[in-house]
This record gives sequence, C-alpha cells and structure tokens, in this order.
Amino acid sequence: MSGAPLVDGFGRVHDNLRISVTDRCNIRCFYCMPEDGVKFVPKREILTFEEIERFARVAAGLGVRKLRLTGGEPLLRKDLPVLVRKVAAIPGIEDIALTTNGVLLAEQAAALRDSGLRRLNVHLDTLDRERFRQITRRDDFDRVMAGIDECLRLGYSIKINAVAVKNLVEADIVPLALFGRERGIEIRYIEFMPLDSQGIWLPGAVLRQDDMLALLEKGIGPLEAIPDADPRAPALEYRFSDGIGRVGFISSVSRPFCLNCNRLRLTADGKIRYCLFAIEETDVREALRSSADDGPVEALIRGTVRAKWIGHEINTAKFVPPPRPMYSIGG
Ligand code: SAM
Ligand code: SF4
Repeated sequence: MSGAPLVDGFGRVHDNLRISVTDRCNIRCFYCMPEDGVKFVPKREILTFEEIERFARVAAGLGVRKLRLTGGEPLLRKDLPVLVRKVAAIPGIEDIALTTNGVLLAEQAAALRDSGLRRLNVHLDTLDRERFRQITRRDDFDRVMAGIDECLRLGYSIKINAVAVKNLVEADIVPLALFGRERGIEIRYIEFMPLDSQGIWLPGAVLRQDDMLALLEKGIGPLEAIPDADPRAPALEYRFSDGIGRVGFISSVSRPFCLNCNRLRLTADGKIRYCLFAIEETDVREALRSSADDGPVEALIRGTVRAKWIGHEINTAKFVPPPRPMYSIGG
C-alpha cells in the first residue's frame, strides 16, 4: 500500500468505494428505471473483473478500506463470486458488502458466502405482494423473501433497504420494522431521491424521516437515537426502547449528510464519481485499458476527489438532477 490518503478540498477523507458491476436489472422499480426502452451499456464498455480489481487495488493503496458492490442488479453479473474473491484478497480492504434486489439471492447466496461475502443489503420496500408488483413492475416478491430466508439461514448480516415514497408506502413502514425485529434485520428507510429516470421526483413525493419516526412510534413504541458510532456513516440509527431491534434512516433530502461524506463511486462503464448527484464524472476505463502503469489511474482518482463539491443541493432551487439515473450510477 502506498500514497497519501484521499482528502478532498473540505478535509473529508475518502475510504469507501461503491462499485457498480452492471447497469442491467431484472426488475423495474419506478423510482429508478423506466418500464421499458432502457438502453444498457454495451458489454465491451463494461469493466472486466480484472479492471475492477485493479481499480480497487489502486484505491486501496490510497486508503480505501470499505467496498460495496452494487448495480443495476449485481447478481446479474455472471460469476460475481469470482469478483468478490478477487477484491476480498486486496491488501487493505477490510469490509465488503453487496446491495441487491434479492430476486436471485436464494440461488447465489451460498456461492457468494463461500467467496467471502458476509454482509448484504436487500432492497425491499413492502411486505405487500401487490404493492411490490406496483413498485417493481414484476411479480418476484416470493423470490426476494426466499432469498432473505436463505441468507438468514447461512448466517449473513442483513439490512433491508426500503425506499420511502410519500402516499405509497406509509402502510409498509411498521410491518417492515416488525419483520426486522422478528429476524434481527435492521430496516433502512431511504428517502426517495431525485435519481429516477423519468423526472417524477418532487420534494412532496418524499416520505421524510420525521414522518416515518412518528409512524413507527405510534405503531410499535418509542425509539431512541443511537449515538453515532461512525459519524461518517450516512444512516441515522434508532433502537426501540424495549430493546428489540433497530431501524436506520438515509435522509438525503431532509437531513443531508454531505459534510461527512467519505464515498467514491465507480460506475460499471468505468467512470469515477465523487457524488451520487454529481454532474461531472471522470473516465478511468481508458487509463485502465491503455496503460499497465497504475500512475494514471491513481492520478484520476486523486483528481476526482480534489474536485469534489461540498454537497448536493437537493433542497435548493439550484438543484439539477444528474444526467444518469440510479441504476446506471450504482446506488
Ligand atoms: N438493484 C440493487 C437494489 O435494488 O438494491 C442495487 C442497485 S439499487 C440502484 C441500490 C439502492 O438504491 C436500492 O437498494 C434502493 O434502495 C435505492 N434506490 C433506487 N432508486 C432510488 C431513489 N430514486 N431514491 C432513493 N433510493 C433509491
Ligand atoms: Fe433495479 Fe435496484 Fe433500480 Fe430497482 S432500484 S430498478 S432493483 S437497480
């Protein structure tokens, strides 16, 4: 390992890298993807496992310690356990997690565990089969539930990501928390962000943390804020006062956490991004493909971190949504 840490112009140290392994998906959540007509990146433009591994190794040399694999739907990427094994072996990498919609999880959980994966975020907004179909435009609820069961059986540490859209999932907030309490799964409620492909986001379409807290306290009981173990973690965490279970909130809209951001992103087609909402991005694929020397890759990573803005401006009139929707950035 070599090199000074990745510090941006606001003193934020970057040790967390999210890697998108594909922009494809097998379901069509309305707040992420259009129902049809999606143009996916051609295969030749997608980074190979060797290119991803090399990028992660260079990033680890600059102080990156935590990796998350995401997409699109990462389980659609053929032989994903091979990539997990490769990145798990990189010196300096201390933690690897995966974010998935869970549809293919029951089939792949064992192989992923054998490759070294221990932590998963499974995306599930509702326990109501009909609302699941309405949100995802697919009928795969039972497969996701089977995936969660299989991962619990295999001993994974699981969190559930639930996207919070107003006038849609209010009735799901409490049942999801009860489900989590019964199984030792933390539910992470994620405020709907302006990253959809069809421009449907509006400030009024966000179910906000305070509203969800009120629903949970009314439906289950008091919650206590958990003092922040890692102030750079985006989720604000709460435990139920009866000692059973916890929930977290990713409140990018009502409580932006940009000042503590420690993340960098690599898209499936080889762009480095300093923010989910960034307008600009840096191509690293060309450097990975044209030179065996890691120097240019390192320089591109450093340059992207140096250029990082202070934060997104979702709550201001100046906000411009990024040109890429969530599935093509990697959530
Ligand atoms: N397909 C996987 C999944 O759904 O978990 C991984 C990629 S997905 C883009 C990553 C996460 O982004 C999802 O778990 C979902 O919670 C979140 N997400 C997608 N669109 C969102 C939006 N418009 N606002 C907030 N969160 C969103
Ligand atoms: Fe697919 Fe995940 Fe986007 Fe849903 S949120 S469409 S599962 S990439």
